[in-house]
Amino acid sequence: MYAVSQIRTFASIFVPPIFFISALASYFHAVYRIKIDKELLLLLLETNSGEASEFITSKVLLFGIIAILFALGIGYLLKKSTGKLHKKLLIIVLLFAVPATIFLGKFKKTPVVQQIRPAVATKYVFPYCVFNGLGQVTGQYIKNLFHDDIIDSSKLDSVALKQEYPLEVITIVGESARADRFQINGYYRETTPLLNKEKNLVNFGAITSFSAYTRLSVPAMITPATLANPETTMTSYLGLFKKHGFKTTWLSANDRLDSHDTPTTNAIGDIDQKIFRNKFCRVSYNKFYDEMLIAPLKNVLESYSGNQAIAIHTRGSHARYNARYTNKFAKFTPDNYGEDMNLVKVNNAYDNTILATDAFIESIIDLVRDKNAVIIYSSDHGESLGEDGRFAHGNPDIIEQRRVPFFVWYSDTYKKLHPSIVDALKKQQGTELSHDVFFPWVVNLGGILLLNSSQPVLLQPDSLQAQQTPQ
Ligand SMILES: [Zn+2]
Repeated sequence: MYAVSQIRTFASIFVPPIFFISALASYFHAVYRIKIDKELLLLLLETNSGEASEFITSKVLLFGIIAILFALGIGYLLKKSTGKLHKKLLIIVLLFAVPATIFLGKFKKTPVVQQIRPAVATKYVFPYCVFNGLGQVTGQYIKNLFHDDIIDSSKLDSVALKQEYPLEVITIVGESARADRFQINGYYRETTPLLNKEKNLVNFGAITSFSAYTRLSVPAMITPATLANPETTMTSYLGLFKKHGFKTTWLSANDRLDSHDTPTTNAIGDIDQKIFRNKFCRVSYNKFYDEMLIAPLKNVLESYSGNQAIAIHTRGSHARYNARYTNKFAKFTPDNYGEDMNLVKVNNAYDNTILATDAFIESIIDLVRDKNAVIIYSSDHGESLGEDGRFAHGNPDIIEQRRVPFFVWYSDTYKKLHPSIVDALKKQQGTELSHDVFFPWVVNLGGILLLNSSQPVLLQPDSLQAQQTPQ
């Protein structure tokens, strides 16, 4: 604003639209309590004219017209301001408007706004968040233009077994969950009491993750990458399922352009539906729990009666741990750790996240228990919880950040219909595994056999005599 006020021609061009956009945004902010950010702007871009007409009422139009007149008036005054005093006054007002709003924003109840530096706070303070959002959307659009060189996984040579009954293949990608904190892997605390009782659970203990970052691990897990070649060269296994007639869904606890999630978003590929958090819930980041994914998952399962492949990307055990679960999972206490990272409290809170994950996975099992279904779970990476003073993740050389849980659950019907797949799965128990197996096994568990593949498959193409449908 200061810069444009120095150059009057620019000011007369830029200031009116800034006022206009801010005015419209403030209307929606005031009336609908909508948080104006890049997610909302993307939603607006995806909105069809029918949905839009519900929002564009005569009130909005009137507000818009007044805003235009006001903006034009300001523009006119700026253009006509010749006197030295006028200009100075205007510059002073504009200069103070920004810091004053940010300062006032610091008194907002939003903890993010209160804690972070004022410069960053513009992301959350109205109306700067509008322009911040516009900038991010533009940046993302430009970035996405360079990402269309990924090959669709449907190009892989494959055959599919004919399914007698509709098959549900559900993969759950955990977040920051380390294997040794799961009771089913021998942890001394009761962190997985429900999974412990599941008889159709084939547990592989701790396996090695692709990396210690979400943005590297998740795309590698869902695509045919290997630890030796972790680059994303193909889209996710959902593309392969789609080719063989499965209805494909990506259901995510993250927003579409979450800063850690964008490489994943690019790797999903062209599938039937992508349901990001902002599509099914409008609670703030810190009020979201994985259990909120159950309702949309139920809808997906009920909306189609044929074969389905569903990938669920969770929030899992990501810091801040004690914001990942509701009160009913606060079993290990005290768990209210602060800046001091008190080891007892941090570890209690972390273990509670595993307890919540246990209940979350059990809820998914319950949704498909009586169906022909298979569920595959692993985490993207582990987490340091105070080992030699280390916390969080991001260092691939640290063992506790690389050892993640991996297990498969199948229904009784699945076992009856696919005894040879279940046998092949059980034969692998006790072997040292890594995320290399995630893509090929998920595909194999869905009855799809990869031909001419160098991947560590669960089933060789000639291992089954069952009826196959070449594609
Ligand atoms: Zn992660």
